[in-house]
Amino acid sequence: ILHDDHIDREVNSVCPFCGVGCQLTFKVRDDKILYADGRNGPANEERLCIKGRFGFDYIHNPERLTVPLIRKEGVAKEDVATLDPANPYTHFREASWEEALDFAASGLRKVRDEKGGGALAGFGSAKGSNEEAYLFQKLVRIGFGTNNVDHCTRLCHASSVAALLETVGSGAVSAPFNEAENADVIMVIGSNPTINHPVAATFFKNAAKKGAKLIIIDPRGQSLSRHAKYMLQEKPGTDVALLNSMMHVIVKEDLTDKDYIKNHTENFEELKVHLEEFSPEAMEPVTGISPDLIREVAREFAKAKAAIIFWGMGISQHVHGTDNSRCLISLALMTGQVGRPGTGLHPLRGQNNVQGASDVALIPMFLPDYQSVEDPAIREKFERFWGAELDPKKGLTVVEITEAVHRGEINAMYIMGENPAMSDPNVSHARQALAMLDHLVVQDLFVTETAAYADVILPASAWPEKDGTVTNTNRQVQIGRAAVPLPGDARQDLWIIQEIARRLGLDWHYDHPKDVFAEMTQTMDSIKGISWERLEAADSVIYPCESPEDPGQPLIFTEDFPTANGLGKFVPASLISPDEIPDKNFPIVLTTGRLLEHWHTGSMTRRASVLDAVEPEPIVHMPPAMMEQLDAAPGDLVTIRSRRGEIDIRVRVDGAVQNGMIFIPFCYAEAAVNLLTNDALDPFGKIAEVKFCAVNVERKSA
Ligand code: SF4
Repeated sequence: ILHDDHIDREVNSVCPFCGVGCQLTFKVRDDKILYADGRNGPANEERLCIKGRFGFDYIHNPERLTVPLIRKEGVAKEDVATLDPANPYTHFREASWEEALDFAASGLRKVRDEKGGGALAGFGSAKGSNEEAYLFQKLVRIGFGTNNVDHCTRLCHASSVAALLETVGSGAVSAPFNEAENADVIMVIGSNPTINHPVAATFFKNAAKKGAKLIIIDPRGQSLSRHAKYMLQEKPGTDVALLNSMMHVIVKEDLTDKDYIKNHTENFEELKVHLEEFSPEAMEPVTGISPDLIREVAREFAKAKAAIIFWGMGISQHVHGTDNSRCLISLALMTGQVGRPGTGLHPLRGQNNVQGASDVALIPMFLPDYQSVEDPAIREKFERFWGAELDPKKGLTVVEITEAVHRGEINAMYIMGENPAMSDPNVSHARQALAMLDHLVVQDLFVTETAAYADVILPASAWPEKDGTVTNTNRQVQIGRAAVPLPGDARQDLWIIQEIARRLGLDWHYDHPKDVFAEMTQTMDSIKGISWERLEAADSVIYPCESPEDPGQPLIFTEDFPTANGLGKFVPASLISPDEIPDKNFPIVLTTGRLLEHWHTGSMTRRASVLDAVEPEPIVHMPPAMMEQLDAAPGDLVTIRSRRGEIDIRVRVDGAVQNGMIFIPFCYAEAAVNLLTNDALDPFGKIAEVKFCAVNVERKSA
């Protein structure tokens, strides 16, 4: 047990992993983080999960990049298999910052000047600060001259945001997750919060213990179901059928909130007609859920005094992800479960700053605060403010950028803190695209799978080494403070972005993140009442926040919706099957996701000693019946193939996975599951269907 007399200093900051945004205190000795304690932040009330408590020594890992690297002449980018991230000198040589920055910027400049801004693209990061994300998108927009800028929201909640903007006019959550304590019904759908938002899950458990009825809907079982009144383990990919049949029951049994529908919504009649064909009996063969259970759950939800809905990637990562969200929104609107304490719509955000990075416009179709790049008046406003011309066309999204590289239309990229060589669906295709680029600049902490394809790698700063703000799933803007110095010659990301910008002709002088934050507040009405000084004093302020006196608004949509007519809109959703249906050659459904101990592509947590010791190797979670059929024992090696690739991986028996389905976490480079996944896109959110593809499994050896 460590006591406070073992430490030199304490620094208050925020956890860098998930969107819950737990406030914590780093305990530092000899410029190293010894451990972290939870603070009394609004999202965590002193709680932390295993990642927040034990996940920090990645920043001190010997593989940490401490000097800029430039690819050696003659080493082909396709040669990544021979690259050891711990010893990158077979492929790269060290360079001074001056040389590396000149080289990085000149390659980008050459493509811009010869082919135009549209031949460039940038991926920023939801793991950096708001200030870094803001400056990165500004660089791409006015330094590159294109809106081809995106980040991992495209693998996360872009379809939820598309549906929310279309129906209720705002992509953010309508209530913090803590509102679960005021709900008498809590619906968790397509989300496994005990694993992915562990501290938020503790609030759901507390609410259930106090009497709230918890409804969980997920094709994969989960431990939160121990606290649930209902666990609906539907067939994978059938959310629209299930939700439409719930709404069918609510309409047929006259359980809608008529006053709410009349005063706050439009298009209900169209939805009502559409729902006719979705009786629970008609949908039972699709969902696998009994009509009686659907009726019971629909009644519980509609009759609740206050019901709140939480959803995750199980909803968004489908070709019908936007339709899934449309159904959830319709369900809440028709029962009036929005805008009051204990009610609301809450897509649980994944990364610690995916909300903030999206708000500040690290996305191709919007300028800060979701203002359309295609609206001439908005563009003109930003052109005046930034003093530069903007591309009038919206840019390409993550997977579309990969396709554009394959077509030879995008030739150079700047990637800050993202790892598409692991995270993208059908990743062989994405890796080929990275290898095809004429020029790739990567800014990161390690030689990631993506950095392996770079022409130049710029050693960046980790979250505990920087000052900055992040915005969590609750819309709480929170301040983080540097706890330890940068290692070697690594640099602050804000400094690196500005040095690239300077070499592309932009004369920027942001000496501190607070200078960037001040500019953000001038372009974003949502946070105009928040100042750096206020955050330093309060640590957390929720938006919308209109003035310095405004405490911020935890509940939104209390009176009306931020749509043109103030009404929420019902948008009916039809059944669309998954893009790739299992058949005799590929009879099994593969779904992917995270583990409690590992974060996304593993670049941080695989290098965090405690976390990697708990979950050190790739595993496929397999239902017992499938194990028996394969005559496989736990730990046996199997080969899993899809139409796009194959991996060898060891088996773990998992009774929570329904028969006919397997689950593989996407954090392991040794068996990268995205070699198998499908890159078919939701047409609205442009999210790929990584939650569903067809595979076969063959036992390899004992
Ligand atoms: Fe960090 Fe999320 Fe865990 Fe909180 S719940 S400690 S934010 S990973």
